[in-house]
Amino acid sequence: MRGIRAVAAALALWSAAAAAEFEVVALGVRGGLEEGNLSSYLIRNGDNSRYLALDAGTLLPGIAQALAKGSFPQVTPEKAAPLTPQGYVLRELIGAYFLSHGHLDHLAGLLLAAPDDSRKPIYTTTDTANTLRTHYFNWKSWPNFSDSGNGTRLGTYRINTPPLGQRVTLGDTGLSGVILPLSHDNSASSMLLVTRGEEAFAYFGDTGSDANEKSKHLRAAWQLLAPLVQAHRLKGILIETSYANDQPTDRLYGHLTPALLLSELENLAALSGGEGALRGLPVLISHIKPSLQAGRDAPAEIRQQLEAGNRPGVNFIFMQQGDRITL
Ligand SMILES: [Zn+2]
Ligand SMILES: [Zn+2]
Repeated sequence: MRGIRAVAAALALWSAAAAAEFEVVALGVRGGLEEGNLSSYLIRNGDNSRYLALDAGTLLPGIAQALAKGSFPQVTPEKAAPLTPQGYVLRELIGAYFLSHGHLDHLAGLLLAAPDDSRKPIYTTTDTANTLRTHYFNWKSWPNFSDSGNGTRLGTYRINTPPLGQRVTLGDTGLSGVILPLSHDNSASSMLLVTRGEEAFAYFGDTGSDANEKSKHLRAAWQLLAPLVQAHRLKGILIETSYANDQPTDRLYGHLTPALLLSELENLAALSGGEGALRGLPVLISHIKPSLQAGRDAPAEIRQQLEAGNRPGVNFIFMQQGDRITL
């Protein structure tokens, strides 16, 4: 009996360990200007071989960078053959896409890779699906690589629009997700709560603050996350900080600054049990917009401003293109 208990305990420990870690690979981290380095992150959990792509602003240049940095240790030329390692990651390791909204900087990489991509599902909102069909997959901007819309449908991508707020299985990635809407100037954006078993990770598309957007969408997202924070099930958040604090409010275009993100994180902390509730929580910062002004280093300024105002005590993480982390 004791032996059986010991085996059961060991198995429970093992399965907890197997499902415990999210792995994130950054394919693109900037919020503009650098067309080879725009928002896209791969995520997987535990023993599943396939990744979910969180947005697809840049794919192949990011995969090349990640291979060069050793962020796909499981990929060798022998394993990839007859494909290149880059082609193998694109076709065989990306199992599905989540597109947070229809802006070009979040899907240009998918459009450009589409002719050589394998068949796979896209998960997105109805609004973004309409943008894809009407403005991109229309045989004018680009051939129709989707399974719906006008003209010949090439069918590479199966566009899925799960109801907001309802859990959906994300292709064969072993992950589930819940999509909630976000407010992004005059565009609809969205976030995805990724879960596997007990573990959760929150990916935010572009968003403004509730105060500036006159919205309650971020508050609703924090209400979804707060119980997960309290149960220590939320392994991390990935969210934008596009501009430094000196960006005028009327030129935020539906984005966040360090001050705005910090005040939103304090809202999450308040819902999660108050002061100290977020201490050590990994918060991955994405979508920093580079500056073309001589002498300005936007990523350094934003990092300094976030660290200086870090009253919630979160663990800010600034991934570079090609980096891999586990959470
Ligand atoms: Zn963007
Ligand atoms: Zn956008």
